[in-house]
Amino acid sequence: MLSPKLLVKRSIKSIAALAQVFRTPSQNSVTIIGYHRVVADIGKAEANSIYGLVVSRETFREHCRILQENFDVVSLEEAADFLESGEFSYLPKAVITFDDGYLDNYEEAFPVLKEFNLPATIFLPTTMIGKNDPLSHDKAFWLAKNALEQNIELENIFLKAGLPGEKANVADALELCDKIVYLPTAQRDVLISELENALSISEYPKEYKLLNWEQVGEMSRNGISFGNHTATHPVLPLEDEKMFVSEIFESKQILEKQLGESVVSFAYPNGKYNREVREQIVRAGYKLAVTTAKHTNKFGEDLFALGRTCLCEESTRGVGGRFSPQVAKLRFGLGSGATAFSFFYHYPVEKLWAFSQILTEIKFLL
Ligand SMILES: [Zn+2]
Repeated sequence: MLSPKLLVKRSIKSIAALAQVFRTPSQNSVTIIGYHRVVADIGKAEANSIYGLVVSRETFREHCRILQENFDVVSLEEAADFLESGEFSYLPKAVITFDDGYLDNYEEAFPVLKEFNLPATIFLPTTMIGKNDPLSHDKAFWLAKNALEQNIELENIFLKAGLPGEKANVADALELCDKIVYLPTAQRDVLISELENALSISEYPKEYKLLNWEQVGEMSRNGISFGNHTATHPVLPLEDEKMFVSEIFESKQILEKQLGESVVSFAYPNGKYNREVREQIVRAGYKLAVTTAKHTNKFGEDLFALGRTCLCEESTRGVGGRFSPQVAKLRFGLGSGATAFSFFYHYPVEKLWAFSQILTEIKFLL
């Protein structure tokens, strides 16, 4: 049964998307789409993972169809050249990116990209590739979910990890997951290890698995580009300079050695950066870096702070909970009076009861 909270959230998203009606992408803009995982079983993936990281293969295919029909889909490098040149483009440009290098990018996304003949860039945390160890945010979510389900005493675990006990006051697994993820690596790893011990967890779901270098090589020879996403996926501004410099420089060397070519693009883990981190990205010889800031990119944009539209299954669900082509088009900035009409036509007035609460929220979502 759909909870009122989720219905309100979906209504807010739908209305936020509706506001895009007035923001049709301009001919000279570049919309960079950010994905993480593309999955065969969305129900299972949303139960076991951070929901914002997963999209079903079917929805991803629909996204690709919309992109192909409405945009000139180019590689990230081409997009950067375009943003620097100020040239005219009749169609707005779009770029498809994936963060983290999950195995399902090869198994589920790659066949769809080939079907539509679309280029994409995958950002890899280089020392994690080909290993069995999941990324820290996946571990954190799994531990948070189990900790809350088993109702374990969290305050003591936080204290044991040298963290304030009140940090353990959380409303749900996602909030606890965030509190684990947004810590410097050393502290985060101690907390993860304390939680693993308390919950007797030594294995994680197989769906968290990342690519290996053979799969990276095959995709690289078939239209997929690769960029850096550090070595171990720390939140860079939380680390000391020595640590973030080595994460930025060493990961570039590893990826260039594996691919046999220079690597020019970088994605900040969790989209987080500061002036010092940005300076090191420039120094390391990258040509561009993407964030998670929600904006399309225009001529003269800072190439080291490019905005992205990050999408998951939930992003293009209508109020009823199923994939909505209207919401999807509006998410891609493809607004028009016709799609607005269609949007309202498909959603009965009684399902839009949350409007009054939503209107005050919209400004935070645009
Ligand atoms: Zn990431």
